[in-house]
Amino acid sequence: MISGKAKIVRAFAAAAAALLLFILPRESGGAGGSAQRASAGFLDLIPDITRGLDLVPPKQHSAAASVQTLTVRNGSDAVTMGLEEYIIGVTAAEMPASYELEALKAQAVAARTFAVKHMVGELRCKSGCTVCTDPGCCQAFISVEGMRKNWGKNFDKYYEKIRSAVISTEGQVLTNEGELVTALYHSSSGGRTEDCEAVFAVALPYLVSVESEGEEDSPEFRSVKTFSNEEFIGIINEKFPDAGMTDPEADIDVWQRTDSGRIALIRLGGTVRTGQQLRKALGLHSTNAEFSFSNGKVKVTCYGYGHGVGMSQVGANAMAGRGADYVEILKHYYTGVELEHFGEAEEFWRLLVPGK
Ligand SMILES: [Zn+2]
Repeated sequence: MISGKAKIVRAFAAAAAALLLFILPRESGGAGGSAQRASAGFLDLIPDITRGLDLVPPKQHSAAASVQTLTVRNGSDAVTMGLEEYIIGVTAAEMPASYELEALKAQAVAARTFAVKHMVGELRCKSGCTVCTDPGCCQAFISVEGMRKNWGKNFDKYYEKIRSAVISTEGQVLTNEGELVTALYHSSSGGRTEDCEAVFAVALPYLVSVESEGEEDSPEFRSVKTFSNEEFIGIINEKFPDAGMTDPEADIDVWQRTDSGRIALIRLGGTVRTGQQLRKALGLHSTNAEFSFSNGKVKVTCYGYGHGVGMSQVGANAMAGRGADYVEILKHYYTGVELEHFGEAEEFWRLLVPGK
């Protein structure tokens, strides 16, 4: 099941060699702020993705420390912890512990891939640490104390379930042609995931639109937001001063949808905006939105929750419920990827950490 060790060693060695070239650190990201569950603030990745391999020396690592630790910025604290300990906290924060075990395992692998991509310097956290707990920048994280508080009497059961999901996939990451993938994920796709290119303006072969069956029964699948006409006009004209909207029903016109049904372009009065701009302005769950008008109100119905790229957590849970294991889930949502065990790539770690 785990294969291609040589490939990943080569990729890591190449990454480590590139570190020696002292590629300039990037300026800080900037977006962020989205605290919606499971989107992990991936809007903030746009500069990273478009810049390609933006490598920086991993200052957090010292020769004395185990290479499989990372420094996590949590508010004003910077805590060094083991990678798998961190992944337990991310999995617990990013996916409901009541989900199927195989879905939790898929989540753990996606979260680990994201973390390791930071550890090797292919992604950078704006906090200066390896990663942070701000879902608008990296991934959400919850401490064991936090889990105890959230889960109450279910703590023992849920902690063991999450720990088991993480430990049974220990060290496993997703790769594409030997390189770590950018393992984006989101809460619910609304039935079909989105091409990465449609959201982040960069095409990645493993982040293409796929069907996501069985999401209909989840609360994340469909959401409705209702505005009075005055309220709607006020928001639009404030966010987009060139809109000059006076009558929502006459002034809203969806110009283009992506193949998965999400709004690509929409006319709002005198301005044309992207679906993502609309989503942000109105605080919608997704860009897969439909409008209806009655009794002086604008009703916006959204399908899915999040940017829709990569793994749908709700869809992953549905797949697991139908009997799929975590490898099948990951290979469904990330087209053409391999599962590899980075912990075996000792050559890489020796290259990365001086003196090892
Ligand atoms: Zn961060």
